[in-house]
Amino acid sequence: MNSINYKIYLKLLYFAQIVSSQHWSYELQDNWGEDYYQCFGEKQSPITINTDEVIQEYFPAVEFVGYRNVLEKSYFVNNGHSVKLQLEPDEIKPYIFGGKLNGVYELDSLHFHWGHSNNNGSEHRINQIHYPMEMHFVHRNQKYATLDESMSYPDGIAVVAVLCNAVMDRNPKLNILIDHIMHLKKFNSSISVYLPLVLQSLLPTDINKFFTYEGSLTTPPCSESVTWIVFPETVDISHGQLAFFRKLQQMNKKRMVDNFRNLQKLNSRHITLRSLPTRRSTFSFNRRFYPTYTRHKSSRFQIVPIF
Ligand SMILES: [Zn+2]
Repeated sequence: MNSINYKIYLKLLYFAQIVSSQHWSYELQDNWGEDYYQCFGEKQSPITINTDEVIQEYFPAVEFVGYRNVLEKSYFVNNGHSVKLQLEPDEIKPYIFGGKLNGVYELDSLHFHWGHSNNNGSEHRINQIHYPMEMHFVHRNQKYATLDESMSYPDGIAVVAVLCNAVMDRNPKLNILIDHIMHLKKFNSSISVYLPLVLQSLLPTDINKFFTYEGSLTTPPCSESVTWIVFPETVDISHGQLAFFRKLQQMNKKRMVDNFRNLQKLNSRHITLRSLPTRRSTFSFNRRFYPTYTRHKSSRFQIVPIF
C-alpha cells in the first residue's frame, strides 16, 4: 500500500470507528476488542482494588482548582451509554495537578455508571464491594490539544472516580444534579446547566487519601492513557435519587442500567494508596517541605510537616 492509499485507509478506519462508536453495547463488551484492539490490552480498567495489596506511599496530594466555580456554559446530554456533563470550549475549566500526575489536567466532562439494583453499578470494586454508582471526572492533559489526541499518550488523561453509597436519606448536595438529569430520559436529549452547579459538592470530604494506578478508558476505544484517582471515601446517594438515573433510556428505548464494564486483570501493575507519612518517615519529608512550628503541651517546639 503506497502512502496516499495508506492515508485514505487510515481516514476510512477513523470514520468507521466514529460510526461504530454509536453501536457498541455493554451486552457485547467481551467483543469490544475485535473492533477496538486496545480493549484486549494489558493495562485495562476497571479493576478490583484489594486494600491488602496496595502500596502505601506519601507524595503530594492532588490539587483541585476551580472546582468551587459555578459552571455556566455546560450542558448535560443523554448519549445512550450514560448521562454526561460536557463543559463547553469557552467555559473556564476546573483543573487538577499533583499526585502522580505528569502536568496539569483540565476537566473535559463528567459522567456516571450505575446498576439496576444497589448490588452493582460501580466499575471499580474495593475489596469485594461493588457500589451502586460511580462518577467519573474526565480530565485532559493540557499539553495535548484535544481529548482525542490525549488518548494516544500514556499521560494523556486523568480520571477521578467517586464511588456512591446508597442510603435512605436524600443527599441535598446532589439535588441540583438530579434536577437536570430528570429532563434527560430520552436518548440524545440534552439540557444546558440552568441551576448553579458546583462540582466540589460531588467530591467526598477527604480528597487527600486516594488510590492511583495506570489504566484505560472503560469504554471503547479503551485507550491505555488514563491515570486513575479513586477515592476510598464514598459519597451518599439515596434510593430515590438513584431511581432518576434508572429511568433514563438507551437509544433502543431500553432502560439505561448496568452501564459498567466488567473487571479487568491487574497483570503486572500495582496500585498505590496515598497516605500520610508514618512517624519514622516524617523526618525525611520535613527535609523536602518547609516546616511549621507549633507549641505543644511539653512547651517545646515541634516540627510538623505541611500537607
Ligand atoms: Zn466512565
